[in-house]
Amino acid sequence: MEKTVQLYEGKAKKVFATEQDDLVIVSYKDDATALDGLKKGTIAGKGAINNRMSNYLMQLLEKQGVKTHFVEELNDRETVVRKVSIVPLEVIVRNISAGSFAKRYGVAEGIVFDEPTIEFSYKNDELHDPLINSYHALALKLATKEEIATIKEMAFKVNEVLKEYFLTLGVKLVDFKLEFGRLADGTIVLADEISPDTCRFWDAKTNEKLDKDRFRRDMGGVEDAYKEMMHRVFG
Ligand code: UDP
Repeated sequence: MEKTVQLYEGKAKKVFATEQDDLVIVSYKDDATALDGLKKGTIAGKGAINNRMSNYLMQLLEKQGVKTHFVEELNDRETVVRKVSIVPLEVIVRNISAGSFAKRYGVAEGIVFDEPTIEFSYKNDELHDPLINSYHALALKLATKEEIATIKEMAFKVNEVLKEYFLTLGVKLVDFKLEFGRLADGTIVLADEISPDTCRFWDAKTNEKLDKDRFRRDMGGVEDAYKEMMHRVFG
């Protein structure tokens, strides 16, 4: 499978067309942004780590019956995925309070919830990805009622599978962001990526942060945290 023209360049990935109309190639960059694009930088080796980890997790999820866009890993940074039209929602699932949840509701980080939560943001850079509920998503025609129900069900399933998996690696899955896409026939599949860029990972014993929060919060040890997660997954 060969790249043809570049279709899109995002903050962390480029997307290329292929000879096959229903397949695209994503190429992961080391570029990182945070704080609504205000903070920019690079995290050496991140592209390859996110590519490999995301592909591994997508395949794990497929085995558990979650449909994903994953097709084939080409090399360290590049992967063939099914072409989708992205549902313009950031779907965030949380098991433990952190980040914007802790800030918005004035609670400490680290409170373990009795049940996981789900929330949506409207993917819109000009509006800064505002928080919305499913009625708003329907009103804005971002997705149908059936699609929203499917997305919620899939997101909680992803959480169950990944929470259990990461615990076996000594990692707490605090929260994460998912994106979903529609195939040409309308099927909803899990798209985008699952990586230390899009998940909060805390060491199960020490609560040490092993994710992009180290970059967002200028904590240092950013590359080491990504490498540590890579080692926990791949040994
Ligand atoms: N997240 C993401 N992209 C975003 C916003 C959040 O991947 O644009 C992820 C983030 O890494 C975390 C989860 O979603 O794992 C919840 O993030 P939160 O809402 O707490 O926002 P933040 O504190 O990162 O602004």
